[in-house]
Amino acid sequence: MQPLIDFMETQTLQMRAMTAGKQDADTVVANDGLGLIRNIGIIAHIDAGKTTVTERILFYAGRLHRMGEVHEGTATMDWMEQERERGITITSAATTCHWRDHQINIIDTPGHVDFTVEVERSLRVLDGAVGVFCGVGGVQPQSETVWHQANRYDVPRIAYVNKMDRLGADFSAVLEEMREKLEAPVAAIQLPWGKEDSFCGVIDLLEMQGLLFDEDDLGTGFSIEPIPADLAVEAEVARAQLIERLADLDDVFMGLYLEQPDLSADVLRAAIRRATISGVLVPVLCGSALKNKAVQPLLDAVNFYLPSPLDISDRKGVNPKTGEIDVRRADVAAPLSALAFKVVHDSYVGKLQFVRIYSGVLKKGMSVYNPRTCKRERVTRLIRLHADNREDVDVLSAGEIGAVAGLKWFTTGDTLCVENAQIELDRIRFPEPVISMAIEPKTQADREKLADSINSLVEEDPTFSVRIDEETGQTIISGMGELHLEIITDRIFREYKVKANVGKPVVAYRETVSAANRATHVFDREIGGKRQFASVSVSVEPLKRSTGNEVAIDVRSDRIPAQFHSAIEEGLRDGLSTGTLRNDPIADVKVSVVDGDHEPEESTETAFRTAAIMAFREAVLGASPVILEPIMAVDVISPADHVGEVISDLNSRRAKITEMSNRGVFQVVKAEVPLSELFGYATAIRSLTKGRASYTMEPHFFRTVSEDIQNELIKW
Ligand code: GDP
Repeated sequence: MQPLIDFMETQTLQMRAMTAGKQDADTVVANDGLGLIRNIGIIAHIDAGKTTVTERILFYAGRLHRMGEVHEGTATMDWMEQERERGITITSAATTCHWRDHQINIIDTPGHVDFTVEVERSLRVLDGAVGVFCGVGGVQPQSETVWHQANRYDVPRIAYVNKMDRLGADFSAVLEEMREKLEAPVAAIQLPWGKEDSFCGVIDLLEMQGLLFDEDDLGTGFSIEPIPADLAVEAEVARAQLIERLADLDDVFMGLYLEQPDLSADVLRAAIRRATISGVLVPVLCGSALKNKAVQPLLDAVNFYLPSPLDISDRKGVNPKTGEIDVRRADVAAPLSALAFKVVHDSYVGKLQFVRIYSGVLKKGMSVYNPRTCKRERVTRLIRLHADNREDVDVLSAGEIGAVAGLKWFTTGDTLCVENAQIELDRIRFPEPVISMAIEPKTQADREKLADSINSLVEEDPTFSVRIDEETGQTIISGMGELHLEIITDRIFREYKVKANVGKPVVAYRETVSAANRATHVFDREIGGKRQFASVSVSVEPLKRSTGNEVAIDVRSDRIPAQFHSAIEEGLRDGLSTGTLRNDPIADVKVSVVDGDHEPEESTETAFRTAAIMAFREAVLGASPVILEPIMAVDVISPADHVGEVISDLNSRRAKITEMSNRGVFQVVKAEVPLSELFGYATAIRSLTKGRASYTMEPHFFRTVSEDIQNELIKW
């Protein structure tokens, strides 16, 4: 048994040459380390084997002593109880492992569309990804969604066709599907050795040799063998195709090839690396994670082909003092910039803030600055994560992913920087929740526990929100889908041990204004024998859809003194949380306080707060308020002979069909459909197509409802 050829040494030397010269010795060493970091995500459709692949990666990289099979519910990355029970991966847990001198940080990404936001924020902080596909199922709808998301973020990718041991597994068919459905520029760099239950390893097209895996010792041992005679021609053809592709894509490679057609594996690898990082090639490997076959070559491929933080272009942000664009290089000597991309509440350490460091270093004891809140905070504990285990460290450097414990004033999307070199990185955008549900505590003791649990969960998950219905006093929670709310209520019951009743999920509507308006409210009352006075004039105007609300206080201080501004702002924020038509939250409105009045002895914060809410409500009522409803993007893949029924059913659901196309014997129908029409769709489509169609849906945008529907909704 021999190790696979390791060409990283040459790479390290190249890196040294690149970074040397300008900086002191310490920095050179540390930045050299940067070239050996891989921040990756593993993206896949549910059931393709992402959890098993991750588990094996951690095992071979020496971080796991025992393998936990997913079907037994013990996989290490699936560390929340619900995940274990459901067998799906919901939260992105980050974990670190080492493979041949490289540090690989894996950010787990969920495959279910209810959790696309988890995928989005992972894609924001990782540098490269491994797409895992099932050798039998191939490209399934959710792989498409995630793949396209990764395209949007320009994430370089390699692909792994898993489950090659299963009956019906077909490597070349999956490659073809990736080309067709994903338009991915795939190229095989391996071929499967054997088929279905005789699958025993892979043919490496760069070294032109076979890697034979031994199931009995958990695949830790494998031998390098000559290519078997029955695969020799196929391997030659596949290698020639690969070389032709590389020559087309890469001029340097073309030059070398013309000089010397018999190229070394190192030269091929270097060309594959350049093409992968620039996004013009997706190298494809195969194996069987469950049967412990060909996972180590995947780890080698992560090192060989996926980018290090140094390969990624400089991170852009804004200097909050000047408003000008600023950039940060991946360099430990640069000032700190890091993005807080996730909060998790942990029963042992409390609040854990996951961060990706883009430049500089984050050290224990240092003071970090938050440009959004203009607050400083001391870092008391830094942690590197391995699923359930954590390792305390003193420093996290540029390129790394880790967690900070105990930060109070940072939330997801905030930048961590230093006060004398401020930068605010692009915030992560989160979609608006589309489904709501009432939740009622069973006892008074549960009421308090419920509020605490919801507050923690809101902090962890920016797509989960809460409000109190003014009329009924009920607590209403909102999220991205039924499964999302189901998981959250499950956590409230189990993790926080709250006893509560939940209502049925309903559509989360919004209210907005369709015209500009202005109103003044004078609050002048005697309360407890004392006069209270405040006058506030408020203007409202519509903003573009999905921009959120804006609040501005633009009034002379001799009309309303500054000491009352925060009470007014509080009143306006309260006003925005409950609309005038049906108590839905208000969205996409700009509210400005434009004038007002006070009496030196008789004005109070309460008077201003009340006057602000009243003036705001009066302004909204006169600004033609309308109801907005969530519209979902629905993709149905139906057998051609049922597509007629699928379309007429969609039409009866107020759908707008946006695209139709053929995919082999199937037809794909894309449509925009109001969420309110989609309850029970799973059952409907099953009976319409005898269970042969599949579909995905995800929140797309909010749209004004027709007048008839608005009247119905208000009556309701
Ligand atoms: P995930 O939903 O993508 O995380 O997929 P899992 O890792 O949970 O795997 C889904 C199912 O496929 C589980 O029952 C696994 O045991 C099984 N599985 C994973 N990898 C393989 C494989 O290589 N071969 C076979 N036959 N089954 C696999």
